[in-house]
Amino acid sequence: MAKNMFLGKIRGHVGEAKGIASADKRQREEAENIPNSVILTKREVQGEWNASRVLMTTIGGKPRQITTNDLAQFRHNMRLAQSNFNGDGITARQVIDLASSKPMPGTGADTDIERARIQINMAVPVSAHNSEIRFITNAGPDSDVTRHHVLIRFNAFSTAVNKLMASKTKDRKTPKQTANWLRKQKLAYECDCGRHRFWFRYIATIGNFNAGRKELGFPKIRNPNLKGVACKHVLRVMSEIESSTTVLNFLTKHMEKAHASADNTAKLRAKQSELEKAASKQSTRTRAIKTSEQRAQDRQRIKERNALHKVAKVTPRLARKPAATRKIEAAIESGKLSENDLSVLRKFNFTDKQIAEKLGV
Ligand SMILES: [Zn+2]
Repeated sequence: MAKNMFLGKIRGHVGEAKGIASADKRQREEAENIPNSVILTKREVQGEWNASRVLMTTIGGKPRQITTNDLAQFRHNMRLAQSNFNGDGITARQVIDLASSKPMPGTGADTDIERARIQINMAVPVSAHNSEIRFITNAGPDSDVTRHHVLIRFNAFSTAVNKLMASKTKDRKTPKQTANWLRKQKLAYECDCGRHRFWFRYIATIGNFNAGRKELGFPKIRNPNLKGVACKHVLRVMSEIESSTTVLNFLTKHMEKAHASADNTAKLRAKQSELEKAASKQSTRTRAIKTSEQRAQDRQRIKERNALHKVAKVTPRLARKPAATRKIEAAIESGKLSENDLSVLRKFNFTDKQIAEKLGV
């Protein structure tokens, strides 16, 4: 139950999240506007570079001063990162797959996806306003806060609600199907943690799947190679969006509300007690975060196991007939019983067992 405490009070969570976001925005503006700002701007990366500027980068391993050659490398890294994405938004599955196949340098337990698997066990949808869904997750063990706010924007929300317009208001099946469709479509995200802010907000911005404040300052120190895609909190949320019934039920309710409204809009807020129940359920089990490759392996294993079961079930039946049937066949073979007598007995609905008893074999 202790892990439940991470959820905290949900009352006021929107104000809290917005407060954190506006403080972040203010600090960022100040950082760019002070004299001797260390932000590497969009224009500078594009080549408008003042050679007297002294800025540092870690590209190549060790901290050193940025040169004009580095700017070309940064632009190259941007193109490489952008080639991983294709257009407006990213799916939950793509985020998980990219975090696994192109992690921010680090191995094993040090990658964002492993941290998500080990440290972040709670992620619940708390409120929704049209396309935007707010999630709360627990914070990692070394964090100075207890929870994080992850904002998800489902880009296909309007399309989903428009699909529903052709069905009856009281139809309960279609909103669920639509919610299930929606959670597999493209989305945008942001997290209020430092990892998203300093490592990934820039990547999310240039990839066009960033919710909230855009970041155009190049992460020259933290992530000059533009690796990885999402923090551990976002990764846990993506896994929940992909496969949890809590999220599916929440989205279904939201769809029902939008469906029943006169103008295709909806607001939804989960109840504290419901979320505590969901959070407590999540904290009692380790939930996998599966990549497409792992899902394919699981499917293959299930297929092989089912095939084995099938063989095991079918073979004994083919190999061994019931004892009474075998006795009758032996009696016919030895001439103790004629085919004719057998068909007469069967006509009177005698079972093989009764026939075998009559024969006394
Ligand atoms: Zn985060």
